[in-house]
Amino acid sequence: MMKCLLCLLLAGPLAAQQVALSLDDVPFLVLAPRLAAPAQHKAMLAALKQRNVQAILFVNGINGGDTPEGKALLRTWGEAGHLLANHSYSHLDLNREDVSLKAYEADVIKGEALIQGLPGFTRLYRYPFLRAGATVAKRDGFYAFLKARGLGIGHVSIDTADYLLDERLRKRLEREPGADVTPYRELYLKHLWACARFYSAWNWEVFGREIPHVLLLHSRLLNGLFLGDVIDHFRTQGWTWISPGLAFRDPVYALMPRNLPGGEALADAVSAERGQLGFVKAWRAAKTDPDDFLFSESRLTQRLDQLGL
Ligand SMILES: [Zn+2]
Repeated sequence: MMKCLLCLLLAGPLAAQQVALSLDDVPFLVLAPRLAAPAQHKAMLAALKQRNVQAILFVNGINGGDTPEGKALLRTWGEAGHLLANHSYSHLDLNREDVSLKAYEADVIKGEALIQGLPGFTRLYRYPFLRAGATVAKRDGFYAFLKARGLGIGHVSIDTADYLLDERLRKRLEREPGADVTPYRELYLKHLWACARFYSAWNWEVFGREIPHVLLLHSRLLNGLFLGDVIDHFRTQGWTWISPGLAFRDPVYALMPRNLPGGEALADAVSAERGQLGFVKAWRAAKTDPDDFLFSESRLTQRLDQLGL
């Protein structure tokens, strides 16, 4: 018998879940095997159009965002009805001691200039590495900057390690261009599903209800190949894709948590702020299926190694 709230949460989904898609590090025009970066964008746009899903893109100037090709791609996304928001120009880490608040803010302003005039421009900012400052001065100094510029935080409710799988996939295809990518696809879906269940239950514990989710994925080869499968997989599991605008309207996304170091996914940040850090341990203790642990980067790496991927 499930009696306590935590037990109930640990048992699995409680309500119909809604999720919005966010893509970071856009456009990431770096060399890739199998599907070149522009073709990755074409494939992602087609997968979204076919399934009628809107994404929010968090854009950088580096990795091609500031080139004519990158700017044209950003415009294409905006014109296709997707949202464009800022992820800073240079993808700086606010937690680093050698990154001053002033330099960081200048980089954010430079990033905003890239997308400001484009269709879909949205006043949200997502911290690179989800790091919001390791000192009170930097964390709160940047919060004041955001407020002054009328910018919200592009919080993440479901964090993932798609970049890790992407790195393995790219290395494999560089060594072996004809390799079968199916095992990567399967592990990717398992990983995302483990992340979704874990964060969904954690957010329930933190906020006492099912919040509309924001999933963090990256502009990478992996998603050029499999974004459509990701969308279909969540739908098969009973989740509904909603617009990012609708998700970010929920009051939890207006929170400015005071955890230190600042940042991380919303449930991590608010749990740290409250000093309530028991959930992860309880979740791990309650789970027996090895696939349930694939939300963890180390378990994912272990599985990649086991499978020889
Ligand atoms: Zn990033």
